[in-house]
Amino acid sequence: SIINPVERPTVTQNLSENFILTTLDDLYNWAKMSSLYPMMFGTACCFMEFMAAYASRFDMERFGMIPRATPRQADLLITAGTITMKYAPNLVRLYEQMPEPKYVIAMGACTITGGMFSVDSPSAVRGVDKLIPVDVYIPGCPPRPEAVIDAIIKLRKKIANESIQERQQTQQTHRFYSIRHQ
Ligand code: SF4
Repeated sequence: SIINPVERPTVTQNLSENFILTTLDDLYNWAKMSSLYPMMFGTACCFMEFMAAYASRFDMERFGMIPRATPRQADLLITAGTITMKYAPNLVRLYEQMPEPKYVIAMGACTITGGMFSVDSPSAVRGVDKLIPVDVYIPGCPPRPEAVIDAIIKLRKKIANESIQERQQTQQTHRFYSIRHQ
């Protein structure tokens, strides 16, 4: 049978495409992981430890991380504190206002599972990952600043191994659960 040569990329074409993409991935990932801008976001006591991580003893800014007061300038959301059902739509809206590529760290028992409010409170969301995709989880009540920094290092490793193509596919498959499905 006759095969149309236009439909068959040569080995050289394949190799050159992969080489360029790999190099771009490295450069792109290095830039992303070296300048994560977290949004100032806290709903309960975990945020005290987030602030401590930025104070002089732990100095999280040394990772090139400068807190932003608006989601439109942030690419990292650290959910520090309890997420209530009433607040959930606002959280999703804030996340959607952040530009891509963006990442989420779930900080503390309350945001990961509802924490102590998961026993008999109808108002706490049982896991922020039912609303938005989470990249790294920090267990604890509250997690100490060292744990927050450890999560940042884990996120940086994850970013370092990403590829632009895979990230685009992940973005296309993101589906947010409605708060009604809690
Ligand atoms: Fe407060 Fe503990 Fe919940 Fe964090 S996990 S918001 S410290 S109760």
